Amino acid sequence: MKFEAIERETVILDPNNNMERKSIPSEIRKDPLTGRTSRICHFMPLKWEKPDFDQLIAGTEKICPFCPDKVMQVTPCFPDEIIPEGRMVLDDKVLFPNIAPYDSLGACATLSGQHFIPMTAITPRHIADAFGLAINFFRRVHEINHPESVYHLINWNYMPASGSSLIHPHLQVFASAYAPNLLQEELSNANNYLKQKGTNYWDDLVQSEKTSGERFLGKIGRTNWLTVYAPLGVAGDVAAIVDDVCCTLELTDDDIYDLAEGLTKLMAAYDKMGIYNFNMNFFPGAQGDNHARFHLVFSPRTFFNQALGTPDIGALRNLYNEGICMAFPEEINEMLKPEF
Ligand SMILES: [Zn+2]
Repeated sequence: MKFEAIERETVILDPNNNMERKSIPSEIRKDPLTGRTSRICHFMPLKWEKPDFDQLIAGTEKICPFCPDKVMQVTPCFPDEIIPEGRMVLDDKVLFPNIAPYDSLGACATLSGQHFIPMTAITPRHIADAFGLAINFFRRVHEINHPESVYHLINWNYMPASGSSLIHPHLQVFASAYAPNLLQEELSNANNYLKQKGTNYWDDLVQSEKTSGERFLGKIGRTNWLTVYAPLGVAGDVAAIVDDVCCTLELTDDDIYDLAEGLTKLMAAYDKMGIYNFNMNFFPGAQGDNHARFHLVFSPRTFFNQALGTPDIGALRNLYNEGICMAFPEEINEMLKPEF
């Protein structure tokens, strides 16, 4: 496995030191699978201030469509041919069609009846049950041979800096015949890798990361956790790769619980840095994609300027898709490891 980094150095005349010459290092890293590049730069301490949550959420529950007093009235229902009962329910969790769909088969699933769950109060059970509800939805659409039942995707935007317009914790759940860009790029490169080397890229990655230990976090059941070599997120990304699983429908209840448990460990570790927003996406293959391995990616989200509300994604990332990470993923690994 080739982990390629191009080291860079910037020389400036430093205004904080009588305009003496100062050298600032940075690094351009290439993702070993896709060649997509990320910049490791800035090297600011990974420390942010959390806001006054009471103030942030005050009043938002009154107009929240996902709260238990409204969810069964204001959310849409699926038509008979998809989910005859309209919505799927598991205890206090509800899955219903996404009223703002971006594909023909999209849903939202609430994580709980509770309007606000602080990141460190989210339990493995919350996540495993919500994932389980979403996967049951995928099984239902698969059973009716729905043409979009190819890639079964869960996205999670937790809290506003992640892109969530609601405080109430919920998942974006969709099945599509069209894999989104980065998933498509990964699958295509992993397919080429299998053809050229005769082995699965993700199996090789796990083996390589386990051996070096620099970015490996640990293993829970069949789920392997590691910090990503060339991350997109400013505070690094973490991937969890599930042994022997290609597509979302192959996840067992144990796998789902293990993924949920690992996610809560990451939340506990990132909370210590002051992070309270994140994205999480599933990256599965289609059924029979032997070149794929089911993995999810967790990416903490924050602000470049908290007082102004400046998001952590600017032009470089938004329009070039160039990652910016403010610390070496190997250092971030050391900050996360105590939880594993
Ligand atoms: Zn709510």
